[in-house]
Amino acid sequence: MFPRWGLMPMNSVRPSAPQLQGMEPYDPKYLPADTLLSANENPSDVEEELRREIQREIRRVPLNRYPDPLANELRDMIAEANGLERDQILLGNGGDELLFNTALAWGGPGRKFLNLPPTFSVYAANARLTGTEVVDIPRRADYSIDEEAVLARVAQGGIDFLIVTSPNNPTGELADSVFIERLLEATDALVMVDEAYFEFSRHTVRPLLGKHKNLVILRTFSKAFSLAAVRLGYLLGDADVIREFIKVRQPYSVDAVSQAIARVVFRNRAKFEPAIQAIVDERARVLDGLSRIPGVTAYPSESNYIMFRIKDAGEVWNSLYERGVLVRDFSRAPYLEDCLRVTVGKREENDAFLAALKEVAIARL
Ligand SMILES: *Cc1c(COP(=O)(O)O)cnc(C)c1O
Repeated sequence: MFPRWGLMPMNSVRPSAPQLQGMEPYDPKYLPADTLLSANENPSDVEEELRREIQREIRRVPLNRYPDPLANELRDMIAEANGLERDQILLGNGGDELLFNTALAWGGPGRKFLNLPPTFSVYAANARLTGTEVVDIPRRADYSIDEEAVLARVAQGGIDFLIVTSPNNPTGELADSVFIERLLEATDALVMVDEAYFEFSRHTVRPLLGKHKNLVILRTFSKAFSLAAVRLGYLLGDADVIREFIKVRQPYSVDAVSQAIARVVFRNRAKFEPAIQAIVDERARVLDGLSRIPGVTAYPSESNYIMFRIKDAGEVWNSLYERGVLVRDFSRAPYLEDCLRVTVGKREENDAFLAALKEVAIARL
């Protein structure tokens, strides 16, 4: 064997997979700022006493051994809290990993994902990465789901999975549970209901799980439970559906330290309730504050963020950032022209945001 390339050493790489061409890597646009209101995180870190308990739990973790691949202790805790069995729960490295696994297990070349834009952009990106065709049914002007159009499309057949985000990110409204039930009855497509923010909306379609094998619910520790840094999310679903997810997952994606942290937090989840209620209360105050700022249209939210519209939102985003306030800019995203999203933070953070926005808005009148 005399390789032809032996004479001239190469220093180049052939193109990556075709579905990556022209794609932008995901960028959360997380910048340093005094007031961080861009990523829908809980503004309060885990309290000191719980952190000490977490430290004790981590100290017991053997670091030289592989973790329990399925995190069965956590599965049992989550199952019990939801009136389900262990085999109906699956943990993932953040909800994001489980979303990717959804596209791996139910998508792929020749298969179709029904998307309800504007919504979480990760869904369409995962479809693209896995060669899954995306069928868009855009939301109405007020961002409610075009329910009849969705039902009509699934009735035509050929949809392999869809994701209904409830509350929707970034627009904030819940999906109607009557609609979700009609959807589950109308199709055998896998219907994921993304309840990443359910602790703030206090609405879940979990009661439908027993009746509908094609329903799977996504939850996360990142938002209400202050663990965005830890990367843990979970699914509730039918045991046969969970089994398909287990086939595509990386066996050790949920590390032993994260499992230990999440066990402590889940066991103590009632302690997070006052902070969650404070965010819900602040949400009403921020919405009210936004409605008093000239030129601003705010959308009601069942979540821990509020989307609002303001002319030249990209410039407004900059002016807010210059004043130390980081919010999320959606103004160049499809269907979200002139929209920004602000996370509900602590009272003083929300006041800083409202004061800065008021100043910017009045200067632009
Ligand atoms: C934050 C979020 C998730 C999951 O986030 P992880 O940090 O990966 O658990 C899932 N769906 C939506 C709509 C979200 O906003």
